[in-house]
Amino acid sequence: MLLPESCSVKVDGNECRLPPSFVVSIKSHDGEYMVAVVCEQHKEGLQYKLASMQNEGKLPAGKIQFQTITAVVTDCVKGMEEDYVEIDLKRGIGSERKP
Ligand SMILES: [Zn+2]
Repeated sequence: MLLPESCSVKVDGNECRLPPSFVVSIKSHDGEYMVAVVCEQHKEGLQYKLASMQNEGKLPAGKIQFQTITAVVTDCVKGMEEDYVEIDLKRGIGSERKP
């Protein structure tokens, strides 16, 4: 399953750039719909928003479910650490060459 790279929430018109921690779906009588992905920080706010959208009839009625995304987040953090180490090593070599 292909997931968006950042949280679906907008705060004051600005998109949240945090990596998502949960897949949000609505489980209704005729199936399960993925509606968004959300970071840890905006989980409660999004849940509240979705519930009110269900009340207004903008989303199908059903149970709002949060599924934890584990693999994606772990891979991302690991990759960043490796990049950081590599940059540090190059800097070290560069400064040794200078008189
Ligand atoms: Zn967010």
